[in-house]
Amino acid sequence: MTVRKGSPWISQLERRRPAVALDDNESADTVIIGGGIAGLATAFFVLRDTDREVVLLEADLVAHGATGHSAGQAVAAMERRFDDLAGELGEERVAQGYRETLSGWERMGEVLDSTGRRDELIRARGMAAVDSPQAVASLLRERDRWNAAGAHAEVAVSDGIAAEGAVRIDGPRLASLLGTIDRRYVAALCAPAGVLNAALLTEALAEHLLSAHPDRFRLYERSRVRRLRLGDEVAATAAGGTVFADNVVLCTNGYTGMEIESCQVPVSVGNVKGVVGFMAGRLDDGPPGIAAFFRSGENSYYYMTRRPYSGRPLVAIGGPEKELPYGERYDARREYDEGAYRRIDAFARETLDGYDERDMEWHGLMGYTPGGIRLVGPDPGVPSLMYNLGCNGIGLLASLAGGWKVAQQMRGTLFPPSMFDPSRLARDKLVRLV
Ligand SMILES: Cc1cc2nc3c(=O)[nH]c(=O)nc-3n(C[C@H](O)[C@H](O)[C@H](O)COP(=O)(O)OP(=O)(O)OC[C@H]3O[C@@H](n4cnc5c(N)ncnc54)[C@H](O)[C@@H]3O)c2cc1C
Repeated sequence: MTVRKGSPWISQLERRRPAVALDDNESADTVIIGGGIAGLATAFFVLRDTDREVVLLEADLVAHGATGHSAGQAVAAMERRFDDLAGELGEERVAQGYRETLSGWERMGEVLDSTGRRDELIRARGMAAVDSPQAVASLLRERDRWNAAGAHAEVAVSDGIAAEGAVRIDGPRLASLLGTIDRRYVAALCAPAGVLNAALLTEALAEHLLSAHPDRFRLYERSRVRRLRLGDEVAATAAGGTVFADNVVLCTNGYTGMEIESCQVPVSVGNVKGVVGFMAGRLDDGPPGIAAFFRSGENSYYYMTRRPYSGRPLVAIGGPEKELPYGERYDARREYDEGAYRRIDAFARETLDGYDERDMEWHGLMGYTPGGIRLVGPDPGVPSLMYNLGCNGIGLLASLAGGWKVAQQMRGTLFPPSMFDPSRLARDKLVRLV
């Protein structure tokens, strides 16, 4: 069978509007760079909650970046455990980061309502499974941390595993909830979650903002910002012109390739690495679902989404990643690692009944800031530069939460210190200098 290359989510987009590129100089109050879910969500909240005029510049087309290449899991989760993060950043900052991430659910509801896309998010239980009894204690601690931040998580353990406060479940039932035929998993952290086509939602946001705010919102695609001048006034220059504004929000997923002119070096400069994430898909059967699988023996991690797609459920599986050398620009058409898809196939054969081989494959770029933690808010040295980026692999809800927070900060709202504050990188620099 021929494997179809490219994201299935992007192929569902039915664009009704032409791509308009910047072809003159413009001015606005805020310029947002990047037209993925982070950029459009930031525009949504800035336009809704302030009276600022916004121009958004996108290098390619809306939602064609990581947003269009994800696994579509709406989950409040971190790639690193609370205790690990707290050791580096302090408990309070991490707890605040957990609360902010959870607030992404409220923001998701607001975005779905405003765009008339309530049905786009299909609610499902999110499950993160482990295969070793030793890992259960850390699941329980993680559950407690999320619940302290306001989540409704629980841990399910299979018979024979000692774990106080966990829900007991028999092995076959656990496997069935995980959507796998593989019986190696002994426990799972479960929490409310959802599946969505994030590209469709982001495109719907673009259409909504263009029609709801014709006087305050302009969107230019195929307008890569090549130079960004920072100061009391900012100037974002693309091939067709320059946008002058009071401030700029970088929503570029981290990796920008733009020249920055500034008296102070922004903390993001030299601090983002690109990681290619690989995914394979196949039309299958079964109810919508979300699961992540941690396999201790192989030290590997896979995630799986099942979601209705053109009349039949699509199972999308990811996990393998490849780090790009620093400074190398990601190329969406390049073949980075054919073996990654074969590894996904091998995992899927152990996981899904009757799986033979993928019939789709795609990859996308994750921009990682140091520690794998997002940057949300103003740069400590250059206040006219704000961030909502650094996808951390699990960035859909977090992008919505970040967009809202940035909009409130523009209104002067102060927030408790958070793990997402860009100042953490300034502190790192200081420590290194000392
Ligand atoms: C394979 C994969 C699977 C994933 N699965 C999940 C998941 O299941 N759940 C989850 O929560 N997260 C997931 N993620 C992460 C999630 O996709 C991202 O966190 C999220 O989409 C990031 O949105 P964004 O808007 O920041 O980035 P993007 O969607 O990448 O948007 C950034 C935009 O900035 C533009 N840009 C960059 N530089 C410039 C410039 N100089 N000028 C103008 N525009 C520029 C780019 O063209 C791009 O469109 C996954 C990511 C990948 C790659």
